Amino acid sequence: MIKIKLLENDTLRKDLEKIHWDWFSERAKTTCSWDKSLTYKDFIKNNIIYATATELNGLTNSQKDDLFDRRLQELIVGPDDIKQKGLNFFYRWIILNGKMQKYPKQKGVALLQDQEDYNKKIDHLKIAFGYDDFCTPKESRGWYKEFKQKYKCDWSAEIFCDKLNIDVCPYCNREYTFLAELFNGLRKRLSEIDHFFPQSIYPYFSCYLYNFIPSCLLCNHGKKEKVKGIVYPYENEFGNRAKFNVKLKNGGTISLPCDTNDVQVQLKLKGSRFVRRKIQKSDKMFCISAIYNEHKTEINDLLRRYYHYGANKSKDLYRLFNFGGIVQNGEIPKYFRDILLGIPLDVGEKQYPLRKFKEDVIEQFDETYKEMKK
Ligand SMILES: [Zn+2]
Repeated sequence: MIKIKLLENDTLRKDLEKIHWDWFSERAKTTCSWDKSLTYKDFIKNNIIYATATELNGLTNSQKDDLFDRRLQELIVGPDDIKQKGLNFFYRWIILNGKMQKYPKQKGVALLQDQEDYNKKIDHLKIAFGYDDFCTPKESRGWYKEFKQKYKCDWSAEIFCDKLNIDVCPYCNREYTFLAELFNGLRKRLSEIDHFFPQSIYPYFSCYLYNFIPSCLLCNHGKKEKVKGIVYPYENEFGNRAKFNVKLKNGGTISLPCDTNDVQVQLKLKGSRFVRRKIQKSDKMFCISAIYNEHKTEINDLLRRYYHYGANKSKDLYRLFNFGGIVQNGEIPKYFRDILLGIPLDVGEKQYPLRKFKEDVIEQFDETYKEMKK
């Protein structure tokens, strides 16, 4: 899993929060189709618990309104100190509102009236929060026209993904998730938006900016509902705490050349028990190491390249092609080594599929090579 580095980029973060909130507020003035006396905002206020009884104690109605306005903004774009609050933010709301799961319909058994009403309330909450309109903007709607006129911009899931500029799925790091430009000028989004906390249980998080994870189809559909204790991509990633590692299925260290079928991919974990458990849970949920294990072509390619262009041969090749000629301090330049190992050149921080896997395995081989030389 790799991090979505939005909280580190204050300019982009504030821009996205502002436009998302402006869009939401404009939409929230719309009257509910199921009750013409209420706007979406009124409906939300009447149907979620935005503060504890102690917090509301002694407040006048207008003070309550102010508190609700602040809390609603939090629910859409997060508190001002989002960097500090992170996941705690979600948990506070979960304590207040809990799970809001719909009553399942069983064949031949009718739901009680209050169960029907509860299900309806959840459906209405989702409409009031507006995720569907965010996913597929309704150009003909009056409120959207007004929003566009007032703020001179469009806003949708597609634009969010474009601005976020995440090229690969943060969960699996295997699939590209960018926007592809089609021949007719339209764009195709290769990602789906996963709700980190699923909207089927937490409808009040359905339009929260930091609950949106642009992910690949497989990760979005394979993700389970219980997300407590897995890595949250806006806060964390595997990084140095979980490194891909290849080993022989029957144990022992790999010596090259070897048959890919004898090799197994695993995650080597570091850190406290708490951290390790979190990573294991995430690995299990997205089947990460199991799926990586099936990337035989890439594993084979990496093993062969490393074997054929190992340290000494790469130096000979560098001299042969006279890329500047001299091998300095016994090392060839990184770019030349990347060419030999099949690593994309000059990508900087940009992500591409399997990047972490390739870098981790090369590091593993380098360390083994160093050990052998001792
Ligand atoms: Zn994925």
